[in-house]
Amino acid sequence: MDKIIFLVNPNAGNKELITNVDAVSRRFQEIADKIEICHTSRPGDSARIIGEQGACADLVIAVGGDGTVHECVNALAKLRNPPLFAMLPGGTCNDFARTLGISQDYREAVEQIIHLKERKVDIGKHGDRYFLNFWGIGLITQVSEEIRGDLKEKFGRLSYYLSAVQTLNHQEAFELDIEADTAAFKGKATMVLVGNGSFIGGVNAYFPQSSVTDGWLDVLIFKEVSFSSFWSMLTSYLTTEEPEGKDLVYFHAKKVRVKTTPPLKVDCDGEKNSYTPVTLSILPGHLRMVVGDDKALNERKGYQDP
Ligand SMILES: [Mg+2]
Repeated sequence: MDKIIFLVNPNAGNKELITNVDAVSRRFQEIADKIEICHTSRPGDSARIIGEQGACADLVIAVGGDGTVHECVNALAKLRNPPLFAMLPGGTCNDFARTLGISQDYREAVEQIIHLKERKVDIGKHGDRYFLNFWGIGLITQVSEEIRGDLKEKFGRLSYYLSAVQTLNHQEAFELDIEADTAAFKGKATMVLVGNGSFIGGVNAYFPQSSVTDGWLDVLIFKEVSFSSFWSMLTSYLTTEEPEGKDLVYFHAKKVRVKTTPPLKVDCDGEKNSYTPVTLSILPGHLRMVVGDDKALNERKGYQDP
């Protein structure tokens, strides 16, 4: 290929990867004539660089955590002919990399990416923004807000669950009105998760059967987050079963309209800057991405069009 652009977030958690990014990029000289390394200095830089130069690159590699990848996906989704996209995991959870079967060890990830195995991957849309992994309201927004920095550093992905268990004790239900192309729900709820990918907080706990190549969003409504339904959700990731329980509503959809009373803050791929009401939809096969281990993609287990 002609040109690869590396978008590097120098503040990403994996300092070893950031320090070695020049050496890593040299590894790609065998597949590209030109390699450009761009260090970002503030949120919005990755999106700006993709907007300016994305169309003339063959491959964009994001080096950073989920925040960096989310920004890149939003910028790439707007291009008429987006380049191939890959990620070198440098954050705490690296949910996107897990979703695409990319190794958490950056040296292994480099060897996976250099093979350029690509898939057309679905992305979700809410309002004028895009997401690769999940969209959520209710408990999920409290969970991520309440993680203390020291806890996150010490316990990594486990801190999300420690925080979730604490949050269960003091959260309130809201009025939910959901209309999808395949189902509807009206009533009290404590959390709604809409998944494209399957990983949230580093664990494949919410949508063990979901696939980013099946053209469907997975919708999970928690009518009441008792400890037992939370536990059944966690244990469902140890099996291959779909989430089930009396407090859960689970279905697949291509378009979902969500209204709540009161309006709620949205957590979308970890970014929290919008509120309900909103309409979500799926853009099947919208971006070309480099993938690693096929098994992680869940392609065979994905929900079939009825
Ligand atoms: Mg899907």
